[in-house]
Order: sequence, then C-alpha cells, then structure tokens
Amino acid sequence: MSSLKQIISCTSDYDPDALPVARANEVIRSFVKPVSGVEKLPVRAALGRVLAKEVVSPINVPSHDNSAMDGYAVRNDNLGASEPVTLTEIGTAYAGREFTGEVRRGECVRVMTGAVMPRNTDTVIIQEAVDVDGKRVSIPPGQEPGQNRRLAGEDLQKGRPALKAGALLRPAEIGLIASLGIGEVSVRRKLKVAFFSTGDELVSVGKKLKPGEVYDSNRYTLWGMLTRLGCEVIDLGVVRDDPKRLEEAFCRAAASADAVVTSGGVSVGEADFTREMMAKLGEVVFWKIAMRPGRPMAFGRVRARRKSAYLFGLPGNPVAVMVTFYYFVRGALLTMMGRNDTDLPLLRARAETAMRKKPGRTEYQRGILELKNGEWSVRLTGAQGSGVLRSMSEANCFVVLGHDQGVVKAGDYVEVMVMDGLV
Ligand code: AMP
Ligand code: MG
Repeated sequence: MSSLKQIISCTSDYDPDALPVARANEVIRSFVKPVSGVEKLPVRAALGRVLAKEVVSPINVPSHDNSAMDGYAVRNDNLGASEPVTLTEIGTAYAGREFTGEVRRGECVRVMTGAVMPRNTDTVIIQEAVDVDGKRVSIPPGQEPGQNRRLAGEDLQKGRPALKAGALLRPAEIGLIASLGIGEVSVRRKLKVAFFSTGDELVSVGKKLKPGEVYDSNRYTLWGMLTRLGCEVIDLGVVRDDPKRLEEAFCRAAASADAVVTSGGVSVGEADFTREMMAKLGEVVFWKIAMRPGRPMAFGRVRARRKSAYLFGLPGNPVAVMVTFYYFVRGALLTMMGRNDTDLPLLRARAETAMRKKPGRTEYQRGILELKNGEWSVRLTGAQGSGVLRSMSEANCFVVLGHDQGVVKAGDYVEVMVMDGLV
C-alpha cells in the first residue's frame, strides 16, 4: 500500500498551503481503499447497501414475448398495407393464462397486457384502433409489424450481468433483483465511522449555556450526514482541547472504526498540538485548501492496537463541516463502501444576482434553485458566513464557483449541485 507521502509526492503542484479542491480529492481517493467484508442479505434488507458481486441474470426478463397493451394479437403478414382487413377472433390470452391454440391465416386472438404472445403472432393492435362485430375484428391499414409486443429478454438477458458490483441498491435495484427471482444478495459490510467534536467552548444539548459557550451542533449534522450515507456510526461525544483526551479519542476510534471524522481543532491556532499528537498516531497531513468555506483540514490515517482508521479532521465552523464533508468525505467513504459511482451531477443555472468571488479558490455558496421561465435560476440564501447554518438549511443547492472563476454578474451562468442528490 502506498504511503500518504508517496501519493503526495506524485501529485502535481502540491502545495499544502493552497491546495486546490481537486488535488486534495486526488490524494484522498488514491489513499482510501474499499473495506473487504461481505455479507449475504435478503433482498429487502439490502436496501441502501452496496452490491459486492455482480448479479448475473439467471433468466430472460420478460421470460416470453408478451403483449404491451390490451388488444388483438395478429400475424403481421395478414395485415393490409392500404386496405383494412377483417380477422376472426378465436380466443383470449390473459396475463398468466396462455392461449395455447395455433393462430392460422385470417385469425387473431384477444390479448391482455402481459399475456404471452399466442403462437405465430408477432404484432398487437390496440383495442381502441379496431372495429369489433361479434367475432369479426376489422383492423385498419398502416400497422407496424411487431408493434406493442415486448420481446423476451428485452429488459434483462439470461447469462448477462444485470447489476455491476459497486452498485447502490435503491428501490429500482431491489425490484430488479426480485424480477430475476433472486431472494438474497451479497453486499459489502457496513462502514463503521466514529465521529467527535473538539472544543473547550462546546456544550451538549439539554444543558444551559454559559457566556462564551456554544451548543455542539456539528455532532448532529455529522451524525445526520453519516447516517444518510448508510454508515454505522459511533458517537464519541465532545472532546476537550487537550492532547491527552484527543489521543484517547483517536485511539478508541482507530480501534473500533474504519474512519473517523472530527470537527474543530485544525485551524492555525489550534493545529499545533493536534499536529504533534496525530503525527504520533499515524500519517496525517494538514492542508489549507483553496476553498471557501472549509480552508483548514487534516487527512490521513491513525493507528491503535494494530488497527487503523482513515482520519478526516474537518474545520469547526458548522457550514465548513458540511461543505468539506460533502466535497471530500462523502466520496471517500463511498469509495470505502465499495461504490463504483461517487460523482454527482452539476447543473447550469442563471445567477439572479451578482456574486462576489475571488479567483484562486473554489467557493461553495448556498443557493435556492428554481425553474423560472423555463430556465434554472439561482439566488443565494442571505448571509454566507461559514458559521451561518441557516444558509444551509434554507438552501436546496450549492452554487459551485470554480477555482479560476472571478466575480459573477447577474445573468451569468453558474454551476450548481442539488443538495438532494448528495446522499
Ligand atoms: P475551530 O475550527 O475549532 O477553531 O472552530 C471554529 C468555529 O466553529 C468556532 O467559532 C467554534 O466555536 C465553532 N465550532 C467548533 N466546533 C463546533 C461544534 N461542534 N458545533 C458548533 N460550533 C462549533
Ligand atoms: Mg476549536
């Protein structure tokens, strides 16, 4: 396994004092590895989990050619090119109840949606298009051969991979697995993630605030983000700014979790003693990332009792915690969970107002995205300070202003990332 130092030495333009977001992610992604544990689960219990092995289809889905509509199954060589034809209805095929007879020239079969196509037929005429007089069915010209018929295997083919390893099992995948008749799947084990807040000023909810104290909200947002990502969470509480206490917390985390996410204690004034302590426990780098919010961050691996955990030391400001989580930690944890897709789509939207922006850093402003006059339009959610959690709560998207971008004028196009897609 490459050490963090080796990975960093291969990263172009590496500058720990002004590290672009993309470079930091490069280092993180090359360092973290998927966990190896696998478990077999009943298909419903696998919702939200990551597929460990590809699922190969044991059958064709659908297993037979069948009708896509209610109507009449015919042989296309019986149809008129320019004249209507009249066929004789000789029976009915239902979903789950086949018509077993032979269909000869001049004949047709009434079919319901999902019914197996009767022998010799290949085309379905919807019932609304025909004239029926007793058993006589008149069909207008101009029908397409093969129309309204679903072919065997058109959804999934026997022997072919139906789902790839690394797929997230969402409701669609759960149903797809069931459509193959499979009742159990192999998924990666859940990722264990420990988290704690650091700070002498932090007070847990339920207690009274004294002057200078703040409630520890980061442990709640972190808990929420980790839980929605599907992690097994280990809450290590609030840890005081005391090297001994911190060391104990990191040791507990390393011994029990795959990763540890902390908030606070990485800013310039505080970094010194954490840096020393972390250096003792493993390989950790301290970065000043060219981004806003979320400049200081620590990343690496800590060890204890022959076990280790990846470390994400996030800044303390509540918005910075969320932004750095979504843009660094989320992708890394998903990679550790074995996911094969971690990227999120960016949309283009028109800025309703001007936005201040300095080139040389990536900014994640909080916005409200709306469709206006047929176009995506975005405005900011008021004060954008990194401590203003309301800016996150009111937002439905991040406005992602790239590294080289300067000031945005009203009417310019900007990139946005919808927050609902984040977990
Ligand atoms: P730090 O990164 O530790 O210097 O903290 C930066 C700012 O974030 C300070 O104003 C802290 O009071 C605040 N902060 C740190 N941790 C938390 C937390 N767990 N919950 C709420 N605010 C916090
Ligand atoms: Mg602090």
